[in-house]
Amino acid sequence: MLKEYEYDVTIVGAGPAGSTAANILSKNDKKTILIDKEKFPRTKACGGGLTDKTIKKIPSIDNIIESESFECILYSSSLTNKATLVKDKPIISMISRYSFDNYLLKKAIDNGTDFLENTKVENIEILNDKIITYIKNDKKIHSKLIIGSDGFNSIIAKKAGLQKNKIFGISIFDEIPLSKDVIIKYFSKKLICHMYLQFGGVSGYGWVFPKESSINVGIVDYRIIGKNKKIELKKIFEDFLNTLKNKNIIPNYIKKVNPKNGFLPFCPLEKTYTDRIILCGDAGGFINPLTGEGIYYAISSGEIAAKVAIKAIESNNFNNNFLSEYEDIWKSKFGLNIIKMINIAKKYTHNSEEFIKILNNDKKLFEELF
Ligand SMILES: Cc1cc2nc3c(=O)[nH]c(=O)nc-3n(C[C@H](O)[C@H](O)[C@H](O)COP(=O)(O)OP(=O)(O)OC[C@H]3O[C@@H](n4cnc5c(N)ncnc54)[C@H](O)[C@@H]3O)c2cc1C
Repeated sequence: MLKEYEYDVTIVGAGPAGSTAANILSKNDKKTILIDKEKFPRTKACGGGLTDKTIKKIPSIDNIIESESFECILYSSSLTNKATLVKDKPIISMISRYSFDNYLLKKAIDNGTDFLENTKVENIEILNDKIITYIKNDKKIHSKLIIGSDGFNSIIAKKAGLQKNKIFGISIFDEIPLSKDVIIKYFSKKLICHMYLQFGGVSGYGWVFPKESSINVGIVDYRIIGKNKKIELKKIFEDFLNTLKNKNIIPNYIKKVNPKNGFLPFCPLEKTYTDRIILCGDAGGFINPLTGEGIYYAISSGEIAAKVAIKAIESNNFNNNFLSEYEDIWKSKFGLNIIKMINIAKKYTHNSEEFIKILNNDKKLFEELF
């Protein structure tokens, strides 16, 4: 049995970042292998909300969109102040990650990407003339470059010595089935999304996103690695559900189905590339910490990673200096926007009342959040 493979690029992780990069590389005739530890289709901890800027990046996505929300309400932690954004085009479009990620993956496979599922990457080794990816059964994949798109707990970032940030988000969320009629009764035809800033003392927020036949409800708290926080997220999630019931945002007969934990980064890694390695998506730490939006940044950084990888293959140059262009490009495309959101998140972590006031006076900023 064949034990070694040879590729131009090995991509680890078939989420939106990895599949986007794989699709572009394959379209450009670069020999690409995409590896994921899960069997696809698979689910992923996520609210499933896409902003307009994300939708614009994906051609013919209409069949995947489950529903569209035209109104979004943000509440302060006292629950007394709120800011409302209403638009005549969707603010958030809802998808299921089961279908969405599989759709992006299929596009990459159709364009020639080799896909290895159910296969965990266990180690990598950077050599002068190639990089080796170690998978199960002692198999090795030789390639010129690795794109690490293996999510929040990226093994590629770890093995490459690219340091993780100390701040991270931990969440509890649940997807609760509900009939279409009940969803419209409670969330109106505009399918209002609700976000409760710093609910119950968390430094993040609680959310309720109505979908076609379910609601996605969850809570996220930002923490510092190694520092214990006296916050019981499970208990706050319970309180959150009860508050939503008392305020008649959701029906009071609703019961939890299968609450799960999910993790998200807070800000980009200090360095997102090294010799023969580029990190994108959550592995690179790309997220809007105010809203938790990461899919847009996963797709955008996947696109940039692929373009820089193509240049590297064509110049036969995979060193640290050459790949630094990746960071220059993502910084110029969305880096400033992420920094702005991080600064706002830090400034208003303990002052949601003030933040709601600001949003009510600055519609442009409010719109920028999505
Ligand atoms: C609770 C929660 C709610 C969220 N809600 C939203 C939202 O509504 N909208 C939004 O835009 N973003 C949201 N996000 C963020 C969003 O989910 C991520 O930013 C996005 O999935 C990042 O995509 P990615 O491709 O970088 O990584 P992922 O989607 O995490 O994919 C990484 C892939 O790598 C694979 N992998 C990991 N390790 C290995 C390994 N060693 N070997 C092989 N494969 C491996 C995994 O199986 C996975 O398939 C949310 C996050 C959480 C936790």
